[in-house]
Amino acid sequence: MSRRFSSPIQRYDGSMRCPLCTTNDTRVVDSRQAEEGTATRRRRACPQCGHRFTTFERATAVIVIKRDGRRQAFDATKIRKGIEITLADRPVPQDAVDDLVTTVERAAFTSPGHIDADEIGQIVLEGLRDIDEVAYLRFASVYKEFQDASDFEREAASLEEEPVSSE
Ligand SMILES: [Zn+2]
Repeated sequence: MSRRFSSPIQRYDGSMRCPLCTTNDTRVVDSRQAEEGTATRRRRACPQCGHRFTTFERATAVIVIKRDGRRQAFDATKIRKGIEITLADRPVPQDAVDDLVTTVERAAFTSPGHIDADEIGQIVLEGLRDIDEVAYLRFASVYKEFQDASDFEREAASLEEEPVSSE
C-alpha cells in the first residue's frame, strides 16, 4: 500500500551525485556485473542535465586466506587485539601499536582483495621485532607453531582467559 516508501536500494542508487551538475538525484539506467562478478557496473543518467556516467561498486572487505584455505573477512580490531595481548605488561607506547596495525591495514587494503594470513603474521612478526624483543619472541614462538595469525589470535585469547579449558 505505502508506495511512498521506495525500496532502500532504489534510494541508494539515486543518491549518486551527477559529476557534471552535482544534482544528487541521478537514476540508474543499467546495472551489470563486472570484473568477474567482483564489481557492479552501473550506467547512470542525470535527469537535470542529461549527463550519463558510469559507476563501479566494489566490496571494500579484504578476505584473509588461511593456510588450510579457509577464508574470513579482514578485521583490524582482531589484529590489534592479538598484538596488544602479545605486548601485555610490556612498556610499549600506544603509538607503536597503532603504527603496526596501520602497517597491516595498509598491506591488506592495497592487496588485490585478499591477503594470506601468513603474510599478516609475517608483518606483525617483523613489526614486533622493532618494537619489543620480548613480545617478538612471544609472537615468534606461537607463530612458528601455528604459521597463522588467526590461530595466534585464538591462542592469545585463550591465554587471556586462562581458567577456561577449551574443547
Ligand atoms: Zn547532471
